[in-house]
Amino acid sequence: MSKKYPYIYIFAAVLLFTVSMNISANDRDFIVVIDPGHGGSDPGAVGSSSKEKGINLAVALKVGNLISAAHKDVKVVYTRNTDKFVGLDDRAEIANRNKADLFISIHTNAVRNTSVKGAETFTLGLARTDENLQVAMRENAAILLEDDYMQKYEGFDPKSTESYIIFEFMQNKHVEQSISLASEIQKGFVSYKRADRGVRQAGFLVLRKTSMPSVLVELGFITNREEERYMKSAEGQNNLARAISNSFTGYKREYDRKRGVPADAAPAPADKKPATGVSDATVREAAKDVTVYKVQILASNRKLARGARELKGYSSESYYVEKGLYKYTHGETTSATEIRKIRQAVRKNFKDAFIVAFRNGEKVKQD
Ligand SMILES: [Zn+2]
Repeated sequence: MSKKYPYIYIFAAVLLFTVSMNISANDRDFIVVIDPGHGGSDPGAVGSSSKEKGINLAVALKVGNLISAAHKDVKVVYTRNTDKFVGLDDRAEIANRNKADLFISIHTNAVRNTSVKGAETFTLGLARTDENLQVAMRENAAILLEDDYMQKYEGFDPKSTESYIIFEFMQNKHVEQSISLASEIQKGFVSYKRADRGVRQAGFLVLRKTSMPSVLVELGFITNREEERYMKSAEGQNNLARAISNSFTGYKREYDRKRGVPADAAPAPADKKPATGVSDATVREAAKDVTVYKVQILASNRKLARGARELKGYSSESYYVEKGLYKYTHGETTSATEIRKIRQAVRKNFKDAFIVAFRNGEKVKQD
């Protein structure tokens, strides 16, 4: 018989395959990597009757299941889903390789004082308190179990304070989104009546190489009897996982909303006079129904003092507050061309600086 039938079948199969590929690409367009800390030969913190690695894995898998069930467009990837050892850089690498949109590392805390309790969420940054530094030091010590850790981590000694200097000069362009997720997670914990130790910053190696917003959650203290019992129990683990997955939902909603906004800054009203050298008052007067551009240089979860090192000599006076973050800006002009020049100059100091547009004092968009 004719040979054309097989071609038709192949054509149909290819067509079906292409269509299903498209569907899956559209269906699962957000990827979250869930990273249960420690595992295998690395138990993490050890309590009186449990190990951190087990609690982390149990809660992480529950978080993943809840997220998958609630979001058809989200793909969940685990850095481990069994009791095995995975290096810190390898965890970040898994997230990068999967082009993840979000990275959530799950851990359990430990301190000598057994009365200390509560949940806290970290974003990557320089630890400002010894307490936060201690958490990073304990978590980073996991690399000591990796082969060739000296080469792999370029001589980073997790137990030496001096090593942490690298986190001081590090640019973290996802700081805002990371803090925003961290705040959501803390709110989630509060809704499940966990003691709230807040959003913190410290130098965690596992977050350092991730190229997406990332947080490290400390569920509670394994060294506190009451919290250990809670984190070991199915009810406790379910609640902690719900707290995190609900927070993820809040974060994702905001992410989707933002994606609805066109990416490019609106063109300036035709040929407004450049405002460089024009006094603030003039610009403010011109600001009515006119787009005013500024360059955002950094965001901080606390107000920075004048001359703060983070500002690199830029003014501490020029900022706006959004969702609990102080967002520092430089320059103020109604000219889209001018603001691009300003951004160009600012990028020598803040390479991720971007333009923000305001109308009538309200932020309208950013590029
Ligand atoms: Zn840990």
